[in-house]
Amino acid sequence: MRTVAIVPAAGSGNRMGRDVSKQYLSLGGTPLLVHSLKVFEECPLVDALLVVVPPQDIDFVRNTLLAPWDMKKVAGVIPGGKERQDSVRAGIEALDPDAGVVIVHDAVRPFTTVELISQCIRTAGEEGAVTVGVPLKDTVKEVAPDGRVMRTCDRSLLWLTQTPQAFRRDIIENAHRAAVRDGFRGTDDASLVERLGIAVRMIRGDYGNIKITTPEDLVIAEAMLAASLKAKG
Ligand code: C5P
Repeated sequence: MRTVAIVPAAGSGNRMGRDVSKQYLSLGGTPLLVHSLKVFEECPLVDALLVVVPPQDIDFVRNTLLAPWDMKKVAGVIPGGKERQDSVRAGIEALDPDAGVVIVHDAVRPFTTVELISQCIRTAGEEGAVTVGVPLKDTVKEVAPDGRVMRTCDRSLLWLTQTPQAFRRDIIENAHRAAVRDGFRGTDDASLVERLGIAVRMIRGDYGNIKITTPEDLVIAEAMLAASLKAKG
């Protein structure tokens, strides 16, 4: 049974306020998408990668990003859809029959690690569905549209959810099929599984596994990259 990573990279990155989509932005001279893919290339438990990109970018990604960085595990570059969920579904529909575990990771989270990916894959094999996340550090309040605080949530139970998320293939296939059938839209893949009553395991990730969404995130990411290069000597 093979493990296949699906990397959704088909967003337009409007919140960055730039013309270039955020997955292609440079971090220390290397595009974010390449940073993310390289960690999966290095993980011995990952057999193949499916990269989901905007339909008009397929040749650009193949020729300009994948070929020069010598990505050996990329088995397909697939056209994405309107929303992230559509892009992940496109990846699922492109899976080989022998894919047993599927791990999904956002292209714009360049600081994931081989250890975290391996832990996700092992846990998905044992338990069926897993997400990575971190406990909340701040206090969360529910606020009405008029700005009135409605309540303070119990922080001890709240986690911020990240990717990677990993699943047995049948579980994630069924979850996406059911979401299409029911017209359900989730902001991550685990939520599609949860709504079917299937248990999802949360494993503790890393506060450094940030998602690059706004220009400030890229500034933080540059500083994090510089610090990790310095630490490595
Ligand atoms: O927009 P957001 O930050 O939530 O995007 C998370 C990931 O989903 C990014 O890697 C982005 O490229 C991807 N995405 C996608 N298809 C879309 C929208 C986002 O693959 N239609």
